Amino acid sequence: MNFHVLTLFPEMIRQGLDISIIGRALAGGIISLEAVNIRDYTISKHKKVDDYTYGGGAGMLMQAQPVYDAWKAVCDKIKERANKDREQTTVEDGDLGSAAMPGQAGKSARVIYVTPQGKTFHQGMAREFAKEEDLIFLCGHYEGIDERVLEEIVTDYVSIGDYVLTGGELPAMVMIDAIARMVPGVLSNKDSGETESFSNHLLEYPQYSRPAVWHEKSVPEILLSGDHKKVDEWRLEQSIKRTKEIRPDLYEKWVLGRR
Ligand code: SAM
Repeated sequence: MNFHVLTLFPEMIRQGLDISIIGRALAGGIISLEAVNIRDYTISKHKKVDDYTYGGGAGMLMQAQPVYDAWKAVCDKIKERANKDREQTTVEDGDLGSAAMPGQAGKSARVIYVTPQGKTFHQGMAREFAKEEDLIFLCGHYEGIDERVLEEIVTDYVSIGDYVLTGGELPAMVMIDAIARMVPGVLSNKDSGETESFSNHLLEYPQYSRPAVWHEKSVPEILLSGDHKKVDEWRLEQSIKRTKEIRPDLYEKWVLGRR
């Protein structure tokens, strides 16, 4: 899976994600990350990418032209790569070439504009986005981005919560981290993503590691019993209890899902 991020601060994206589990997935080629500097695409002599808003009001707005041209350059690169892959498949499989890659030809990548005005990001979205071959993230700054370019290129408007940040880089990184974890091979233990919080509307049960007693607190006896069935039952019980107390909204969903 390939992530492309359109931003005014590419170094923030690279430094933020090239570490730990996501860093290893990048190094192993399971996912790729390209941070594109929108400023490189401005036609302004002074490398300007923002201007005052029509109608007045505080703050500057990112202009349509550099954003559109940066997006176009990424789309061209994606198309070029898809064509190369198709040619390669044609050579390897003879006439099967295009049939071997259903739906790839001509399909443009989804463009996620990270914005406080979007739908709130959740685990289900992460799972859905992880099925895409390419995802383009658009990060705003200042007062945001000229509406006209958003209308032309954006397919999904997504927020990370009801608060306003200075820029879209942190929200894009949050989403990329959550989506990448859903890509097969990124997590070393394939189960670890499936039993986590939100996987079935329940929060995860409490977990313990060595030592068995710490600060006079003992690990629950059942976890030391070696009885896997009982451990599973205890964990489910704890998940239900925790979800009911902390997130009654999720608990309701879980109850409804069982009917
Ligand atoms: N004027 C905009 C508004 O009221 O909707 C807010 C602009 S904000 C200061 C600058 C940029 O940060 C946005 O264009 C967006 O890309 C990003 N951003 C801020 N808060 C966000 C959030 N909660 N979720 C996703 N992106 C956010």
